[in-house]
Amino acid sequence: MIVEMRTNAPLEEIDGVVQRAKSLGLEVQLNLGTDKTVVAILGSNTGQLSTDIFAVLPGVEQVARIMRPYKLSSREFKAEDSVVSINGIEVGGKRIVVMAGPCAIESEEQFMAAASAVKAAGACALRGGAFKPRTSPFSFQGLEKVGLELIAQAKKQFGIPVITEVVDAHDVDLVSQYADILQVGARNMQNFTLLTELGKCKCPVVLKRGLSATVAEWLTAADYLLAEGNNNVILCERGIRTFEDSTRFSLDIGSIPVIKRSSHLPLIVDPSHAAGHYVLVPAMAKAIVAAGADGLLIEVHPNPKEALVDGLQSLTPSDFARLMEELKLVAEAVDRRI
Ligand code: PEP
Ligand code: MN
Repeated sequence: MIVEMRTNAPLEEIDGVVQRAKSLGLEVQLNLGTDKTVVAILGSNTGQLSTDIFAVLPGVEQVARIMRPYKLSSREFKAEDSVVSINGIEVGGKRIVVMAGPCAIESEEQFMAAASAVKAAGACALRGGAFKPRTSPFSFQGLEKVGLELIAQAKKQFGIPVITEVVDAHDVDLVSQYADILQVGARNMQNFTLLTELGKCKCPVVLKRGLSATVAEWLTAADYLLAEGNNNVILCERGIRTFEDSTRFSLDIGSIPVIKRSSHLPLIVDPSHAAGHYVLVPAMAKAIVAAGADGLLIEVHPNPKEALVDGLQSLTPSDFARLMEELKLVAEAVDRRI
């Protein structure tokens, strides 16, 4: 349930709503806007409560029931776009943020070459997995702690923020000491223990959409992070599993305007995992920017032929540099910039 306070409602009236909710055993989250405050009333049984319980309180403008399962990530809770700051780079503002790099960190030589190439082409952040969630236990699982050390080296050498995946709730503390943005992979979108731990840590989190998750399930997973007080949440579309097998996953381009209508959270899109083939990535990346996403997550490898993971969908540094130039034109056409 969402309680919208009157413009400039005094703190005592806001507190009156909070105290009433607490007296009923409900949780609250406040969105203190510049002149308007919205109180989200959280709890599994709010559906059974009459909205009048809050509507009668002083200072209340209106009370709306949210039938959707997600609350804190909804536009009803927060009308303005959220902007997540990563070392001064704003995700969700005018600028299209491009995060790029290899799927997995494989060696010092590979990761530093990737860092140098993506930085030179204008990427805002470097990607690279130290812990990889692999479908088979026999596949390369990542360099783990050695990979984290290489993240620290790349940050120092190239002064670029790094995004990396955290696979296990027990690793949140460790990985957040090295990376600037923690990625929750598609396979972990509903790993609620991991989400709760990341919610407590307050570091920027990129939450990928599950392979077969609906938009509502994805936003409800985002609520796990927000409910713990971490507002630095960035959504990432990466394609869903459908009957179509000409691409690795089906890029749900429609989810971009759907998310923009339903949620205040910034949204980036990963065309690489949706495409599964490097040839398809540039066209998909351009469509993503045109459709209104706030950024891109793209796999780039200094030598895709030698890649241990996802070589076929990785762009070479020169293909990536060319794509960045093309994206500038698309961004300008939709009143954004790269
Ligand atoms: C990745 O980004 O390398 C990855 C494993 O992505 P996803 O979780 O979307 O499959
Ligand atoms: Mn990958």
